[in-house]
Amino acid sequence: MNYRRLGKTGLMVSEVGFGGEWLERHEEKESIDLIHYAQEQGVNIIDCWMPDPKSRDIIGKALKGNRDKWFVQGHIGSTWQNGQYVRSRDMAQVKPAFEDLLRRIGGGYMDLGMIHYIDSQEDWDLSMNTEFIDYVHSLHEKGVIRHIGLSTHNPRMAKRAVETGFVEMILFSINPAFDMKPASEDLNTMFAGYEQGLQGIDPERAALYQLCEERDVGITVMKGFFGGALFDPARSPFGVAFTPAQLIHYALTRPAVSSILCGYDTKEQIDAAVAYETASPEERDYASVIASAPLHSYRGQCTYCGHCKPCPMEIDIAMVNKFYDLAVQQPQVPESLRAHYQALGPTAASCIGCQSCESRCPFEVKIAERMAKAAALFGC
Ligand code: SF4
Ligand code: SF4
Repeated sequence: MNYRRLGKTGLMVSEVGFGGEWLERHEEKESIDLIHYAQEQGVNIIDCWMPDPKSRDIIGKALKGNRDKWFVQGHIGSTWQNGQYVRSRDMAQVKPAFEDLLRRIGGGYMDLGMIHYIDSQEDWDLSMNTEFIDYVHSLHEKGVIRHIGLSTHNPRMAKRAVETGFVEMILFSINPAFDMKPASEDLNTMFAGYEQGLQGIDPERAALYQLCEERDVGITVMKGFFGGALFDPARSPFGVAFTPAQLIHYALTRPAVSSILCGYDTKEQIDAAVAYETASPEERDYASVIASAPLHSYRGQCTYCGHCKPCPMEIDIAMVNKFYDLAVQQPQVPESLRAHYQALGPTAASCIGCQSCESRCPFEVKIAERMAKAAALFGC
């Protein structure tokens, strides 16, 4: 495993890291074993944006006795209310949620205290001009958080974060689909001469990466696999499949990027990601894949990130979308898939079309419409 300096934090993080959001899908022991297995492969950074007690406990138990071997990204503003994730700047929610995180992860500190998920100017103002940011600074001054980070999907908010001077690193969504210009552009032209510069990348995003490099603000990457869609030609915005090594290489070749945090369900998936370290240049080459691919826009496609929560009807929107995407690829809905869908609890049929979720979706997914389609497809 290679380790890279995470910007001005100075932390040496593994190029291949661990995004924790799938941990809660599995039995506790199975997920703890996955973290231990990743550690054996040299992985040393893990993100915990998740507010739910199960995910946090899994990470805490896995790191018990190994806490100093890991760098944890712990999020401030990710709260758990009535059994659901709620992004909040309300200090009555924020403080107990972060204290809960500290308690469950253990050690009494957080390596990277992440200002959780700011994508809009409105949320920026709510976070940066209120006692929320005072709380972040006070945690930093007391050494409870060792470094200040921020997570976002929006290059404009990321740029603002870098310009504050006190944000030392950002967690940012990067993959070839997110980085491309709008669908009307010619992909072959965009990728021409890529290795010499950043042609082909949306200018605002390119400027962000360069700014991060200049200001020594490190980047850790989320959504590097586009929720798995880039492994499947049917779902890839490019109409072609990538391999983990190609996507990891893409992320790690952006300026200022130190680590890509991948989600894992199995040890084999960890092996596939870590195999990047010994992959040949040909195995890592993503450009040739994209250069001959038809171009599509990623907007409107669900990456199963879960940021649209909470839903007043308690629908697990990300999972409904995932099952829907899997089901529409089949000539007939498999019974096993239908059973998983029905086991979710409230199904898409419970959707009342309030659209309150849609403003929280970073990808402009028309969620209410998709819920209606899913309800029609599954019949409930
Ligand atoms: S539109 Fe449907 S899925 Fe979205 S929050 Fe409202 S009820 Fe939930
Ligand atoms: S609908 Fe949007 S916010 Fe919700 S899981 Fe999908 S991509 Fe994420």
